[in-house]
Amino acid sequence: TKTPGLTDDAVAHAIARELARQQDQIELIASENIVSRDVLIAQGSVLTNKYAEGYPGKRYYGGCEFVDEVEDIARDRLKQLFGAAHVNVQPHSGAQANQAVFLALLQPGDTIMGLSLAHGGHLTHGSPVTMSGKWFKVVSYEVEPDTHLIDMAKVRAKALAEKPKLIVAGASAYPRVIDFAAFRAIADEVGAWLMVDMAHYAGLIAAGEYPNPVPHAHVVTSTTHKTLRGPRGGVILTDDEGLAKKLNSAVFPGNQGGPLMHVIAAKAVAFGEALDPSFKDYARAVVANARALADTLAGGGVGIVSGGTDCHMVLCDLRPLGVTGKAAEIALERAALTCNKNAIPFDPEKPFVTSGIRLGSSAGTTRGFGEAEFRQIGQMILRVLRALGANPDGDGAVEAEVRAQVKAMCDRFPIYRD
Ligand code: PLP
Repeated sequence: TKTPGLTDDAVAHAIARELARQQDQIELIASENIVSRDVLIAQGSVLTNKYAEGYPGKRYYGGCEFVDEVEDIARDRLKQLFGAAHVNVQPHSGAQANQAVFLALLQPGDTIMGLSLAHGGHLTHGSPVTMSGKWFKVVSYEVEPDTHLIDMAKVRAKALAEKPKLIVAGASAYPRVIDFAAFRAIADEVGAWLMVDMAHYAGLIAAGEYPNPVPHAHVVTSTTHKTLRGPRGGVILTDDEGLAKKLNSAVFPGNQGGPLMHVIAAKAVAFGEALDPSFKDYARAVVANARALADTLAGGGVGIVSGGTDCHMVLCDLRPLGVTGKAAEIALERAALTCNKNAIPFDPEKPFVTSGIRLGSSAGTTRGFGEAEFRQIGQMILRVLRALGANPDGDGAVEAEVRAQVKAMCDRFPIYRD
């Protein structure tokens, strides 16, 4: 198999095999999704040729009239989606959106406060291996050992004691609603900026299925490729005009050179899709499907971190089945169920082993799976993991059977067929 039209055989073969992989496995990685053909076409367009340093109407290069149009469409649609007064659609990634905010609002040595990586925060929220941890003094808050929820009274006490310059709310592995208004009240009390990184929840927020942080935060960052179902990339939103100017300068020239105009075109297309009423149905189904998956796994003895989910994400504690996250990820992949190992709060295992897996319902929902399918997926996961608990090498026959069930389900809900 080859990729139609691509004459570089080596790359074409790899892409074709990746396409087949995506078609024939069930994607459960919570940070992934399946973009539309329109998003692919926009991203594969001639806009990749264009340099456009600056912003629409104020560029450092000629020939920008059409890419200006594209960036304006992306900005207008993004503002409308989240009710934000000012947006920047140029960050190349979520990490770079966060870096731009830090560059705009902080000096090296300032204190920042975010959710600990081990408790569901993102690397860029203060992990020592990233710029956020190397350049700033980091104080982290955690979730509670019994409920796995963020206790806002404890966040407030820590903020009062540590006086951070910036507080980060948002997470990569926190399945519950985050109280953005309470975070803002704490930020105001201690004189901190509140940055909300809504990367995981953005699509659900756009559809009204998860609370919108824009009215509460000084600045909101996001990726565009998770529940929002766009191309890989980042965005920044704010209601504050003064901040918007600082943030624009921090993105370009502060942190990036020329924007990826082909990606911005694909973002514009994805934002247009998210404005369509059908996106609300998708987002509602994403949450219902995640809950069906969580219920099924809980019924089979898997520990569900926080006891359930309010979004697309189900964080599983596999200790009751006697398997690690690492072993589970590998066994499930053999059965064509793709997910990632993930630390659970207070995880006794090392970060490369972990006691958990993180599952997400967005990609499956995009291809058309409903609650019935997600219950079946839950049963498939349980079969593979129970067999793995009984034998550390897994059970090849069980995995082959599940792989066949996965293939049949994928064939009923095809993607990128023609
Ligand atoms: N912020 C959060 C909450 C994330 O979960 C992620 C990615 O997983 C990022 C930021 C980083 O996004 P990117 O991989 O585009 O840099």
